[in-house]
Amino acid sequence: MSLNIEEIRELFPVLHQQVHGNPLVYFDNAATTQKPKAVLDALCGYYERDNSNIHRGAHTLADRATRYYEKTRKSIRDFIGAKEEAEIIFTKGTTESINLVASTYGRKYISEGDEILISTMEHHSNIVPWQILCEEKKANLKVIPINEAGELLCEEFEKMISEKTKLVSIVHASNALGSINPVKEIIKKAHEFGAKVLVDGAQSTSHLNIDVQDLDCDFLAFSAHKLYGPTGLGVLYGKRKVLEEMPPYQGGGEMIKEVSFEKTTFNEIPYKFEAGTPNIADVIAFQKALEFINNIGKKEIKKHEDDLLSYANSAFTEIKGFIPVGTAKEKVSVLSFNINGMHPFDVGMMLDAKGIAVRTGHHCTQPLMKWFGIEGTVRASFSVYNTKQEIDLMAASLAKIAKIKN
Ligand code: PLP
Repeated sequence: MSLNIEEIRELFPVLHQQVHGNPLVYFDNAATTQKPKAVLDALCGYYERDNSNIHRGAHTLADRATRYYEKTRKSIRDFIGAKEEAEIIFTKGTTESINLVASTYGRKYISEGDEILISTMEHHSNIVPWQILCEEKKANLKVIPINEAGELLCEEFEKMISEKTKLVSIVHASNALGSINPVKEIIKKAHEFGAKVLVDGAQSTSHLNIDVQDLDCDFLAFSAHKLYGPTGLGVLYGKRKVLEEMPPYQGGGEMIKEVSFEKTTFNEIPYKFEAGTPNIADVIAFQKALEFINNIGKKEIKKHEDDLLSYANSAFTEIKGFIPVGTAKEKVSVLSFNINGMHPFDVGMMLDAKGIAVRTGHHCTQPLMKWFGIEGTVRASFSVYNTKQEIDLMAASLAKIAKIKN
């Protein structure tokens, strides 16, 4: 069954606009996806009808808001195949989810001489929290190398992992290259050494079917805004046993069972990790984004995006001066490249003049760019609402831009 992309595009108001006199071509989906109208309506609808603080209220609006809020938690559980809702913690985003693990799990379990493994292709948000932790604890951060194609060197990982490894924190799909890492195998190996594994799912959750029980990951972090949902909202999945043994993250309302000046006891999971009034409106609206994805189906979305990626690869490869960056065999729909003799930012600006939105720069992966010996790339990333016609438009513009220097 092929998707009716025109019908899907109709659901996204933002796509129907002109930029510098040209129809918008939005290819910056790895940074954030656009939001369907149902998500926007749910946001407004919450404030128009249901606005109330959750969990504590005895009145109708509080009860309604609480039910909607918890309904999203249940949908996320189903979306990632978690055992129970209690394992789903709402955060501000992938960044906060990783920081939460670093500052609670890390604080309790990482000691002097321990090792944490990450990879060369990590986003800064899966590097810096571990650096801070390692410095504080006198632990060591080790980096799994990659090859020229931007693929993880799994045999090197197998040499690096040891009894000293307490945690492996690894990106599932690279935002800068698109490479998909074999996380299931990594998790299995890490567990043989007693290490826990955090999967950065910021890019994978929107493209790949995720089943945390099948993967057997200890943590999964992701952001709603890369899944057609609102910004400022993310998820940390953790296995019940691991979460229960972790100390709380922030102190405040909601995360407590009982407070006295002498001693405070903490709430059950997930509330132990959700101090203060949460992002109620965005959580409720995220439900509509999940429904949008489920209605189309992850498999269909991936098929369409794979098709766009291979179409763009063929079209752009024809352009003289086109240099792809990251050519892994297994990829999500991210195409990073440079144009010989040109700065990525200049290419991005010239594309913008034609209404084409791409990302340029280091994509919050400075060590990865350094490894490739480049300052940055131009990145086109495709989503379910993109079309081959849009890729044709970009290829035509890119060909003209590349001619300046090639
Ligand atoms: N990890 C990866 C792979 C990402 O692509 C991103 C965002 O681009 C993040 C982490 C951070 O996500 P957020 O900024 O939503 O917290």
